[in-house]
Amino acid sequence: MQDQYGRNIDYMRISVTDRCSLRCRYCMPRGVELCDMAQLLTYEEIVLCAQTAAKLGIRHIKLTGGEPLVRRGLDGLVRMLKAVDGIGQVTLTTNGTMLEKHLSGLIGAGLDAVNISLDTTDRRAYEELTGKDELGSVLSSIDAAVGAGLRTKINAVSFPRSREEIRNLAAMAKDRPIDVRFIELMPIGYGKGFPGVSHKDLFLQLKEMFPGMEPDPAPHGFGPAVYYSIPGYAGGIGLISALHGKFCGSCNRVRLTSKGFLKPCLCYDSGEDLRPILRSGLPPRERDEKLLETMRTVIFEKPREHCFENEQEITEGAPMSAIGG
Ligand code: SAM
Ligand code: SF4
Repeated sequence: MQDQYGRNIDYMRISVTDRCSLRCRYCMPRGVELCDMAQLLTYEEIVLCAQTAAKLGIRHIKLTGGEPLVRRGLDGLVRMLKAVDGIGQVTLTTNGTMLEKHLSGLIGAGLDAVNISLDTTDRRAYEELTGKDELGSVLSSIDAAVGAGLRTKINAVSFPRSREEIRNLAAMAKDRPIDVRFIELMPIGYGKGFPGVSHKDLFLQLKEMFPGMEPDPAPHGFGPAVYYSIPGYAGGIGLISALHGKFCGSCNRVRLTSKGFLKPCLCYDSGEDLRPILRSGLPPRERDEKLLETMRTVIFEKPREHCFENEQEITEGAPMSAIGG
Protein backbone atom coordinates (compact mmCIF):
# COMPACT_ATOMS: atom_id res chain seq x y z
CA MET A 1 0.00 0.00 0.00
CA GLN A 2 1.00 3.65 -0.28
CA ASP A 3 1.87 5.68 2.76
CA GLN A 4 0.78 9.28 3.35
CA TYR A 5 3.65 10.50 1.13
CA GLY A 6 2.81 8.20 -1.77
CA ARG A 7 5.67 5.74 -1.20
CA ASN A 8 4.90 2.12 -2.03
CA ILE A 9 5.59 0.07 1.10
CA ASP A 10 6.21 -3.52 0.03
CA TYR A 11 9.06 -4.71 2.24
CA MET A 12 9.00 -5.80 5.90
CA ARG A 13 11.99 -6.71 8.01
CA ILE A 14 11.05 -9.14 10.75
CA SER A 15 13.32 -9.63 13.74
CA VAL A 16 12.85 -13.10 15.20
CA THR A 17 14.98 -12.66 18.33
CA ASP A 18 17.01 -10.11 20.29
CA ARG A 19 19.56 -12.84 21.15
CA CYS A 20 22.85 -13.13 19.30
CA SER A 21 25.90 -15.38 19.10
CA LEU A 22 28.20 -12.34 18.73
CA ARG A 23 28.70 -9.12 20.65
CA CYS A 24 29.51 -6.55 17.94
CA ARG A 25 30.63 -3.47 19.80
CA TYR A 26 28.48 -1.02 17.80
CA CYS A 27 25.35 -3.17 18.03
CA MET A 28 25.12 -5.44 21.07
CA PRO A 29 28.13 -5.11 23.33
CA ARG A 30 28.46 -7.38 26.37
CA GLY A 31 25.89 -6.67 29.06
CA VAL A 32 22.97 -5.67 26.83
CA GLU A 33 19.73 -6.66 28.53
CA LEU A 34 17.61 -9.29 26.82
CA CYS A 35 13.82 -9.44 26.90
CA ASP A 36 11.92 -12.33 28.50
CA MET A 37 11.57 -15.20 26.04
CA ALA A 38 7.80 -15.05 26.52
CA GLN A 39 7.80 -11.56 24.96
CA LEU A 40 9.21 -12.84 21.66
CA LEU A 41 6.54 -13.43 19.05
CA THR A 42 5.92 -17.09 18.32
CA TYR A 43 6.38 -18.26 14.74
CA GLU A 44 2.59 -18.54 14.43
CA GLU A 45 2.21 -14.91 15.54
CA ILE A 46 4.89 -13.83 13.07
CA VAL A 47 3.10 -15.65 10.26
CA LEU A 48 -0.20 -13.99 11.18
CA CYS A 49 1.52 -10.58 11.00
CA ALA A 50 3.01 -11.53 7.61
CA GLN A 51 -0.40 -12.65 6.29
CA THR A 52 -1.90 -9.35 7.39
CA ALA A 53 1.02 -7.38 5.96
CA ALA A 54 0.62 -9.22 2.65
CA LYS A 55 -3.02 -8.03 2.49
CA LEU A 56 -1.63 -4.50 2.77
CA GLY A 57 0.84 -4.97 -0.06
CA ILE A 58 3.99 -6.29 1.63
CA ARG A 59 5.69 -8.58 -0.90
CA HIS A 60 9.18 -9.19 0.49
CA ILE A 61 10.28 -10.28 3.93
CA LYS A 62 13.74 -10.17 5.42
CA LEU A 63 14.34 -12.21 8.57
CA THR A 64 16.77 -10.61 10.97
CA GLY A 65 17.61 -10.40 14.68
CA GLY A 66 19.71 -10.44 16.91
CA GLU A 67 21.03 -13.44 15.14
CA PRO A 68 18.06 -15.18 13.50
CA LEU A 69 19.85 -18.53 13.39
CA VAL A 70 20.08 -18.76 17.18
CA ARG A 71 16.33 -19.34 17.10
CA ARG A 72 15.45 -22.98 16.61
CA GLY A 73 13.54 -24.13 13.55
CA LEU A 74 14.08 -20.99 11.46
CA ASP A 75 13.77 -23.08 8.30
CA GLY A 76 10.23 -23.95 9.42
CA LEU A 77 9.42 -20.23 9.63
CA VAL A 78 10.87 -19.65 6.17
CA ARG A 79 8.66 -22.43 4.81
CA MET A 80 5.55 -20.96 6.46
CA LEU A 81 6.30 -17.44 5.19
CA LYS A 82 6.95 -18.67 1.65
CA ALA A 83 3.46 -20.21 1.73
CA VAL A 84 1.78 -16.89 2.63
CA ASP A 85 -0.42 -15.60 -0.20
CA GLY A 86 1.14 -12.50 -1.73
CA ILE A 87 4.62 -12.95 -0.25
CA GLY A 88 7.28 -13.34 -2.92
CA GLN A 89 10.80 -13.28 -1.58
CA VAL A 90 11.85 -14.37 1.87
CA THR A 91 15.47 -13.54 2.62
CA LEU A 92 17.74 -13.61 5.64
CA THR A 93 20.39 -11.42 7.19
CA THR A 94 22.83 -13.27 9.41
CA ASN A 95 26.25 -12.94 10.97
CA GLY A 96 27.12 -16.17 9.16
CA THR A 97 28.63 -17.96 12.16
CA MET A 98 26.04 -20.75 12.04
CA LEU A 99 24.82 -20.50 8.48
CA GLU A 100 26.73 -23.39 6.97
CA LYS A 101 25.05 -26.04 9.08
CA HIS A 102 21.57 -24.61 8.46
CA LEU A 103 22.08 -23.93 4.77
CA SER A 104 20.49 -26.96 3.19
CA GLY A 105 17.43 -26.73 5.48
CA LEU A 106 16.96 -23.05 4.64
CA ILE A 107 17.38 -23.58 0.91
CA GLY A 108 15.01 -26.55 1.07
CA ALA A 109 12.46 -24.31 2.82
CA GLY A 110 12.64 -21.85 -0.08
CA LEU A 111 14.95 -19.10 1.19
CA ASP A 112 15.60 -16.73 -1.72
CA ALA A 113 18.78 -14.97 -0.68
CA VAL A 114 21.09 -14.24 2.22
CA ASN A 115 23.01 -11.19 3.42
CA ILE A 116 26.02 -12.06 5.53
CA SER A 117 27.48 -9.38 7.80
CA LEU A 118 31.25 -9.21 7.71
CA ASP A 119 33.06 -6.11 8.93
CA THR A 120 36.63 -7.29 8.58
CA THR A 121 38.61 -10.11 7.00
CA ASP A 122 41.30 -9.90 9.67
CA ARG A 123 40.91 -12.64 12.25
CA ARG A 124 42.17 -10.65 15.22
CA ALA A 125 40.19 -7.54 14.30
CA TYR A 126 37.09 -9.72 13.88
CA GLU A 127 37.49 -11.13 17.37
CA GLU A 128 38.17 -7.69 18.80
CA LEU A 129 34.99 -6.30 17.18
CA THR A 130 32.59 -9.20 17.74
CA GLY A 131 33.99 -10.83 20.89
CA LYS A 132 34.38 -14.22 19.16
CA ASP A 133 37.03 -15.92 17.06
CA GLU A 134 34.51 -16.88 14.37
CA LEU A 135 35.93 -15.39 11.17
CA GLY A 136 36.69 -18.89 9.82
CA SER A 137 33.11 -20.08 10.16
CA VAL A 138 31.75 -16.91 8.50
CA LEU A 139 34.10 -17.26 5.52
CA SER A 140 33.22 -20.89 5.22
CA SER A 141 29.48 -20.05 5.31
CA ILE A 142 29.96 -17.47 2.55
CA ASP A 143 31.61 -20.04 0.31
CA ALA A 144 29.02 -22.67 1.18
CA ALA A 145 26.16 -20.27 0.34
CA VAL A 146 27.76 -19.27 -2.97
CA GLY A 147 28.58 -22.91 -3.73
CA ALA A 148 24.97 -23.89 -3.11
CA GLY A 149 23.83 -21.26 -5.62
CA LEU A 150 22.08 -19.08 -3.02
CA ARG A 151 22.03 -15.35 -3.91
CA THR A 152 24.52 -13.94 -1.41
CA LYS A 153 25.64 -10.46 -0.41
CA ILE A 154 28.14 -9.26 2.16
CA ASN A 155 27.31 -6.27 4.36
CA ALA A 156 30.02 -4.27 6.12
CA VAL A 157 29.33 -1.28 8.35
CA SER A 158 31.48 1.74 7.48
CA PHE A 159 33.86 2.79 10.20
CA PRO A 160 37.45 3.96 9.88
CA ARG A 161 39.54 1.27 8.15
CA SER A 162 42.98 1.02 6.64
CA ARG A 163 43.23 0.94 2.84
CA GLU A 164 44.31 -2.67 3.16
CA GLU A 165 41.15 -3.59 5.10
CA ILE A 166 38.90 -1.86 2.56
CA ARG A 167 40.75 -3.59 -0.27
CA ASN A 168 40.45 -6.99 1.44
CA LEU A 169 36.71 -6.57 2.01
CA ALA A 170 36.18 -5.45 -1.59
CA ALA A 171 38.27 -8.42 -2.74
CA MET A 172 35.58 -10.77 -1.39
CA ALA A 173 33.75 -9.84 -4.62
CA LYS A 174 36.73 -10.49 -6.86
CA ASP A 175 36.31 -14.18 -7.57
CA ARG A 176 32.85 -14.67 -6.09
CA PRO A 177 29.66 -13.49 -7.83
CA ILE A 178 28.57 -11.59 -4.72
CA ASP A 179 28.12 -7.93 -3.92
CA VAL A 180 30.05 -6.39 -1.05
CA ARG A 181 27.98 -3.55 0.41
CA PHE A 182 29.17 -0.89 2.76
CA ILE A 183 26.54 0.56 5.10
CA GLU A 184 26.89 3.92 6.79
CA LEU A 185 26.85 3.52 10.55
CA MET A 186 23.59 4.89 11.92
CA PRO A 187 23.39 6.69 15.28
CA ILE A 188 21.00 4.14 16.76
CA GLY A 189 21.64 2.24 19.98
CA TYR A 190 25.34 1.61 20.57
CA GLY A 191 26.05 2.93 17.08
CA LYS A 192 25.65 6.40 18.61
CA GLY A 193 28.99 6.37 20.34
CA PHE A 194 30.83 4.63 17.51
CA PRO A 195 32.94 6.45 14.90
CA GLY A 196 31.46 6.14 11.42
CA VAL A 197 32.77 7.09 7.99
CA SER A 198 30.90 9.19 5.43
CA HIS A 199 30.37 7.41 2.13
CA LYS A 200 31.47 10.57 0.35
CA ASP A 201 34.92 9.79 1.80
CA LEU A 202 34.68 6.03 1.30
CA PHE A 203 33.70 6.54 -2.34
CA LEU A 204 36.81 8.69 -2.93
CA GLN A 205 38.99 6.06 -1.25
CA LEU A 206 37.49 3.29 -3.36
CA LYS A 207 37.83 5.32 -6.55
CA GLU A 208 41.50 5.96 -5.77
CA MET A 209 42.08 2.25 -5.09
CA PHE A 210 40.08 1.09 -8.11
CA PRO A 211 40.33 3.83 -10.77
CA GLY A 212 38.30 1.69 -13.20
CA MET A 213 35.32 1.52 -10.82
CA GLU A 214 32.14 2.59 -12.64
CA PRO A 215 28.48 3.03 -11.61
CA ASP A 216 26.46 -0.10 -12.34
CA PRO A 217 22.84 0.83 -13.14
CA ALA A 218 21.65 -2.82 -13.28
CA PRO A 219 19.16 -3.69 -10.49
CA HIS A 220 20.80 -5.81 -7.76
CA GLY A 221 17.84 -6.09 -5.37
CA PHE A 222 15.00 -3.97 -4.02
CA GLY A 223 16.96 -1.92 -1.47
CA PRO A 224 18.60 1.50 -1.48
CA ALA A 225 22.18 0.50 -2.34
CA VAL A 226 24.00 2.26 -5.19
CA TYR A 227 26.20 -0.21 -7.06
CA TYR A 228 29.57 0.00 -8.79
CA SER A 229 31.52 -2.49 -10.84
CA ILE A 230 35.27 -2.98 -10.80
CA PRO A 231 36.93 -4.38 -13.93
CA GLY A 232 37.84 -8.05 -13.43
CA TYR A 233 35.55 -8.45 -10.39
CA ALA A 234 32.82 -11.10 -10.48
CA GLY A 235 30.67 -9.22 -7.94
CA GLY A 236 29.86 -5.56 -7.37
CA ILE A 237 30.46 -2.97 -4.68
CA GLY A 238 27.39 -1.37 -3.07
CA LEU A 239 27.11 1.76 -0.98
CA ILE A 240 24.14 2.15 1.35
CA SER A 241 24.36 5.75 2.50
CA ALA A 242 21.50 6.39 4.90
CA LEU A 243 23.15 9.54 6.26
CA HIS A 244 25.09 11.16 3.43
CA GLY A 245 22.85 9.94 0.62
CA LYS A 246 19.49 10.12 2.39
CA PHE A 247 17.05 7.87 0.52
CA CYS A 248 13.90 8.41 2.64
CA GLY A 249 11.95 9.62 -0.43
CA SER A 250 12.07 6.11 -1.86
CA CYS A 251 11.99 4.12 1.40
CA ASN A 252 9.81 1.04 0.94
CA ARG A 253 10.07 -0.67 4.34
CA VAL A 254 8.64 -1.20 7.80
CA ARG A 255 10.08 -3.24 10.65
CA LEU A 256 8.54 -5.74 13.04
CA THR A 257 10.65 -6.15 16.16
CA SER A 258 11.09 -9.48 17.90
CA LYS A 259 8.62 -8.34 20.58
CA GLY A 260 6.02 -7.51 17.97
CA PHE A 261 6.33 -3.72 17.70
CA LEU A 262 5.62 -2.47 14.17
CA LYS A 263 8.07 0.37 13.40
CA PRO A 264 7.66 2.53 10.32
CA CYS A 265 11.06 4.29 10.64
CA LEU A 266 14.34 3.31 12.28
CA CYS A 267 14.86 6.76 13.72
CA TYR A 268 11.77 7.10 15.91
CA ASP A 269 10.07 5.09 18.64
CA SER A 270 6.71 5.60 16.92
CA GLY A 271 4.62 2.66 15.73
CA GLU A 272 2.29 0.18 17.40
CA ASP A 273 2.74 -2.80 19.66
CA LEU A 274 0.98 -5.65 17.87
CA ARG A 275 1.57 -8.22 20.62
CA PRO A 276 -1.37 -7.12 22.80
CA ILE A 277 -3.62 -7.55 19.76
CA LEU A 278 -2.12 -10.94 18.91
CA ARG A 279 -2.59 -12.09 22.51
CA SER A 280 -5.86 -10.29 23.21
CA GLY A 281 -7.96 -13.43 23.28
CA LEU A 282 -10.39 -11.76 20.85
CA PRO A 283 -12.22 -14.09 18.46
CA PRO A 284 -9.95 -14.63 15.41
CA ARG A 285 -12.06 -12.50 13.08
CA GLU A 286 -12.10 -9.46 15.37
CA ARG A 287 -8.44 -9.91 16.21
CA ASP A 288 -7.50 -10.10 12.53
CA GLU A 289 -9.52 -6.99 11.70
CA LYS A 290 -7.88 -5.06 14.52
CA LEU A 291 -4.44 -6.23 13.40
CA LEU A 292 -5.15 -5.20 9.81
CA GLU A 293 -6.38 -1.73 10.74
CA THR A 294 -3.51 -1.14 13.16
CA MET A 295 -0.90 -2.19 10.62
CA ARG A 296 -2.59 -0.10 7.93
CA THR A 297 -2.45 3.00 10.15
CA VAL A 298 1.22 2.48 11.07
CA ILE A 299 2.21 2.02 7.44
CA PHE A 300 0.13 5.00 6.27
CA GLU A 301 1.63 7.25 8.94
CA LYS A 302 5.24 6.35 8.15
CA PRO A 303 7.30 9.51 8.83
CA ARG A 304 8.55 11.49 5.86
CA GLU A 305 12.21 11.09 6.73
CA HIS A 306 14.75 10.18 9.40
CA CYS A 307 16.53 12.78 11.48
CA PHE A 308 19.97 11.17 11.87
CA GLU A 309 21.60 14.52 11.12
CA ASN A 310 19.99 16.00 14.27
CA GLU A 311 20.77 13.37 16.86
CA GLN A 312 18.77 15.11 19.60
CA GLU A 313 15.60 14.47 17.56
CA ILE A 314 16.13 10.69 17.45
CA THR A 315 13.55 9.12 19.74
CA GLU A 316 14.46 5.45 19.20
CA GLY A 317 16.36 4.29 22.27
CA ALA A 318 16.50 0.52 21.68
CA PRO A 319 19.72 -1.23 20.61
CA MET A 320 19.91 -2.34 16.97
CA SER A 321 19.95 -5.98 18.07
CA ALA A 322 16.39 -5.51 19.37
CA ILE A 323 15.21 -3.77 16.20
CA GLY A 324 16.86 -5.89 13.54
CA GLY A 325 18.98 -3.37 11.64
N1 SAM B 1 22.88 -10.67 13.38
C1 SAM B 1 22.52 -10.45 12.03
C2 SAM B 1 23.65 -9.77 11.26
O1 SAM B 1 24.62 -9.37 11.89
O2 SAM B 1 23.50 -9.64 10.04
C3 SAM B 1 21.23 -9.68 11.83
C4 SAM B 1 20.95 -8.52 12.75
S1 SAM B 1 22.07 -7.14 12.59
C5 SAM B 1 21.32 -5.97 13.70
C6 SAM B 1 21.68 -6.55 10.97
C7 SAM B 1 22.67 -5.58 10.38
O3 SAM B 1 22.61 -4.35 11.10
C8 SAM B 1 24.13 -6.04 10.44
O4 SAM B 1 24.68 -5.99 9.14
C9 SAM B 1 24.80 -5.02 11.33
O5 SAM B 1 26.13 -4.79 10.97
C10 SAM B 1 23.92 -3.80 11.09
N2 SAM B 1 24.00 -2.78 12.12
C11 SAM B 1 23.96 -2.91 13.46
N3 SAM B 1 24.05 -1.72 14.07
C12 SAM B 1 24.14 -0.79 13.09
C13 SAM B 1 24.25 0.63 13.05
N4 SAM B 1 24.27 1.36 14.15
N5 SAM B 1 24.31 1.25 11.85
C14 SAM B 1 24.29 0.52 10.69
N6 SAM B 1 24.18 -0.82 10.66
C15 SAM B 1 24.10 -1.46 11.85
FE1 SF4 C 1 24.74 -9.75 16.60
FE2 SF4 C 1 24.34 -8.91 14.14
FE3 SF4 C 1 24.36 -7.15 16.17
FE4 SF4 C 1 26.62 -8.34 15.48
S1 SF4 C 1 25.41 -6.96 14.20
S2 SF4 C 1 25.83 -8.11 17.59
S3 SF4 C 1 25.96 -10.29 14.81
S4 SF4 C 1 22.88 -8.72 15.86
